[in-house]
Order: sequence, then C-alpha cells, then structure tokens
Amino acid sequence: MTGRTYGGPLVDMTGSVDLHCHPFPDLFPRLADDFDIVRAARDAGMKAILLKCHHESTVSRAYLVQRVIPGIRVYGGIVLNYYVGGMNAAAVEAALRLGGKEVWMPTVDAGYHAEIHGGTGGYDSQQGGRSQAEGIWVTDKEGKLRPALKEVLELVAQYGAILGTCHLSPREIIALVREARSVGVEKIVITHPYFRVPNIDLDTLEEAARLGAMPEFGYCTVSPAWQYAAPEKIAQSVARIGASRCLLVSDTGQRHNPLPSEALRIFAQTVFEKGVPMDQVLQMISYNPMQLLDVDADAGPTEADLAWARGLVEDPCAAPPLPHAAPAGPPATSPAGGPG
Ligand SMILES: [Zn+2]
Repeated sequence: MTGRTYGGPLVDMTGSVDLHCHPFPDLFPRLADDFDIVRAARDAGMKAILLKCHHESTVSRAYLVQRVIPGIRVYGGIVLNYYVGGMNAAAVEAALRLGGKEVWMPTVDAGYHAEIHGGTGGYDSQQGGRSQAEGIWVTDKEGKLRPALKEVLELVAQYGAILGTCHLSPREIIALVREARSVGVEKIVITHPYFRVPNIDLDTLEEAARLGAMPEFGYCTVSPAWQYAAPEKIAQSVARIGASRCLLVSDTGQRHNPLPSEALRIFAQTVFEKGVPMDQVLQMISYNPMQLLDVDADAGPTEADLAWARGLVEDPCAAPPLPHAAPAGPPATSPAGGPG
C-alpha cells in the first residue's frame, strides 16, 4: 500500500514486476517501444520487467535497454513461433545463454490459436506476420508430445528459466506441464488462462496449478477492447488457487491499453477492490514474479560491466606516480601563485 492515500488504500507499485508486456518493435501496432515502456516502469518504481515479442527474441533488446536505463532490471525471452523456427532448440539455447528468462510456447503460430482465430500469424481482429497453412502443435493426434519439445524443455530446466504455455490448447497445456515437471522444469507459467486462447476452465487451471504451474492473469484479458473475462473471475480464481501460486501481469503494449506499468497498477488495484486482500495482491505483483526471475541473485553487475564502468570515470592519461617524481615538501601553490 502506498504511504499517501486519498480516502482509500492504493496499490504501491514500488518493487513490482511485470513478467509480460509487448513493446515495439513488433509486427503488430504498438503503443510504445522498449525504451518508453521500460522508462515508465522504472519511474513507477518497478523493480523488473520482462519484454515479450511474438516475432523475435527480446534477449538482446533487453540487454541493450538495460545498459541505457538504470534503476530497473530488464529481461527478455523467446517465443517459439515460426519466426524463430518454431520448436527450435538452437534458438532457445542462444536465448538462454544470452540471459533470457522465459521460453514461451507458440502464440499466434500455435495450432490451437489458428483453429480459434482462423489462421496463424495474427488475430481475427488484427493481422500480424505471414499466415501458414498449419499451426504448431506440441502434441500429435494421439496426444503424445512431439520429440522436438523435449529438447527445448531440457534446456529450460538446465538454465532454470521460466516456461510459458501461451496459446496452446488446454489439453496440450496439461500434457506440457506434466512433461516439463518430469524433465525438471520448476518454473511454469500458465499464460493468460482466460484470454480467448487458451480460455481454460477453472477446474483445469486448478489442476495445472496442482501440478506446479502458476497462472498468470493479465490486464489485457479484462481490457475494455477485448473483455474476455471480468475482474471478478480473476478474484474468484485467486481465492480458489491461492495467491502464492498466482501472478498478475499487464500483457499490454496494444494501442488501446495503458502502458504496462499503469495497466499493471490498474489491474492490481481492481483485483484488490474485487476482494483480494492487499498483501496477496502485492505478493502476486512483487514477491512471486521476483522468485521466478531470481532478481536478487543476478542483480549485481558482472566483472565485465564493472571494468567498462571504471573506464568511464578513470582518466586514461593519468599514469601512476613514480616514486622519485613526488618529492616530499609543502603543498604546491595554486597556478596563479596566490594564496592556496
Ligand atoms: Zn501477451
């Protein structure tokens, strides 16, 4: 809760984290770019933000933004759509070795997404990239997981990264969560469960949570333009699953929604006003996502970063003084020869 209030409790964004936002560059129109979104989040007091893009890895983007904007941790990840080769272990490995924090299953190129939205690459409301004849399914017709997925999951486990379920079907999501747990993935996020895809029912969501996954409810799902769920449904779901297993994110970047930091504040405040206690709201926007990102574990600069920073403040012409060049004596007078 914020220190200053105006007649009622306000959610304090200090130390909060957004695990899901969509800045420009992107093939969909966006409200703002990486820099504008990260600066606004930093100015709102947020501790960390994770950039997502349907069409490319955001890992290098995050690295560069981080070098320019201090005071907030900036992370990226990779969405396994056709733009990066789909279920491509090489792309995943590069993203994770370069500091990526989340590997997202296919979004607009998922087979289930294509079924619901009439094709891959876009939504029924907006076209994005190219449309392919067939979307990406992580299971075959018999419901068995495809082999390429296993390699990806092993990398996610090895690097301690987050696995996001995105636009897979509810059945695929449950199969994926089971398999991920069995290969040692510990951080699994059920991406926007009540968005049009996957639109999981609460029983299935609870089952996923029991298997060790965390539902990530997004402002975008309840936004005025799309209204896929009412805020009351989010509050009820949190009450049933437990705030310790839930996350709140913005999932914004669309032109019709507020900037991610403000969208997350509105969403958190709304969920609070719908009956979720304040300490639980704060847990879902701060403590829980911070555990997933290991923010405190890697918040310090690397040796390479420190060496770079030292180079900025040290005078490269200042040679270390030689022993005979510094005779003992009274302090030198000022260059003008006047009193020191
Ligand atoms: Zn999203």
